[in-house]
Amino acid sequence: MLYQMRDGMYQVRCRYPGCAFTTRLVLKEPILGESERELELKAENAARNLAQLKHDGLHGPWHVLRNPEVRRLAGAKTPVSTEAGSGERADIREYRAGEVILRRGEDAATVCEVVQGTAFPDRNPGHLYSAGDCFGAAALLANQSRTCNVVAGEGGARVAFHRLAELSRRDPARAAGLYRAVMADTLGVIQELERSIDRARGQVEAAALRG
Ligand SMILES: [Zn+2]
Repeated sequence: MLYQMRDGMYQVRCRYPGCAFTTRLVLKEPILGESERELELKAENAARNLAQLKHDGLHGPWHVLRNPEVRRLAGAKTPVSTEAGSGERADIREYRAGEVILRRGEDAATVCEVVQGTAFPDRNPGHLYSAGDCFGAAALLANQSRTCNVVAGEGGARVAFHRLAELSRRDPARAAGLYRAVMADTLGVIQELERSIDRARGQVEAAALRG
């Protein structure tokens, strides 16, 4: 039986002596598990990972978040039927760390959503996708192919492949949400590109000045 948690809310507290760090997190994307126990562990893991990013960003030089106290404040665990679900039969696949999820040049028919774990474009490892993030915008245009390889991050990834045209007929709100997520990713990629162009221009100008 597959279980799902929506809008899980967690409180994570650092146990390091003298550290006052405590944070509340909402897992905005649904988490899936093969059992209630597995679902709990995965949700706790997701909350711990998010908290660690926050914590280590603040206190990293002092200590890292290790073995924190994790408490669920909200988020019901509900059984899901893989047949009906939210009106969509998304194709969900598991990947080991480093395994290729999307391959450059392949036909782009689906938008990808990270359900669990992380993924990143192999030519830009800093652009990390985690649970709830979407990628694969080429699928929004007809007859496009994948523009880069995307691989599973450390710890692997569970990825849902959505056919947006199909989904928008059955569950327009869900399709719109995925569309927004994948557009947000595209804008992020463009901004990164602009920043690297600015950097390159700066280097060219500096080199010209040195003459
Ligand atoms: Zn701490």
